[in-house]
Amino acid sequence: MYEKLEEVNEIVKKCTKCGLCKTRTNTVFGTGNENAEIMFIGEGPGADEDREGEPFVGKAGKLMDQAFLGLGIDRSKVYIANIVKCRPPSNRTPLKEEAMACLDYLRNQVMIIKPKVIVLLGNTALKNILGDEYGITASRGKWIEKKGIKYLPTFHPAALLRDESKKIYFWEDLKLVKQEIEKE
Ligand code: SF4
Repeated sequence: MYEKLEEVNEIVKKCTKCGLCKTRTNTVFGTGNENAEIMFIGEGPGADEDREGEPFVGKAGKLMDQAFLGLGIDRSKVYIANIVKCRPPSNRTPLKEEAMACLDYLRNQVMIIKPKVIVLLGNTALKNILGDEYGITASRGKWIEKKGIKYLPTFHPAALLRDESKKIYFWEDLKLVKQEIEKE
């Protein structure tokens, strides 16, 4: 385990631990405040993210920004990362072995950032972090505490782009997150 995000990022940039290294343009490590109280974990980079090397820069990212703005969550105070750091071809769901190969980097990021809450965006994040017994429809909007970390699962912003009716739930879930970090 490394003590600085930059050290982990340097390892990720050269990583060949899974097959996704063959098709990536850039690794997408994560972005945001090293001392963030809220950490968002998504699935993996899409085409825009792969090109720019930054997570959530495409349409899904814009939707997140709108929600942050609407709810008064300062983006500079959050950290955003993904389960896998390299883009799965055609934006397919990362395979279990790809997620497992990559998870140590994410664990190291969490260890360094020590967020107060972690928001799990969609099924891939939820299942790979908390276990296959969880499903996003049943778990969203409910706090789950494990090993002293509070998790809140919610829909992935890409799911909101496919189904607008889910936006209200995403919004409600982010309100819970805001309330949580404003406690004390
Ligand atoms: Fe390495 Fe993760 Fe990229 Fe796979 S997805 S090559 S484990 S950085």
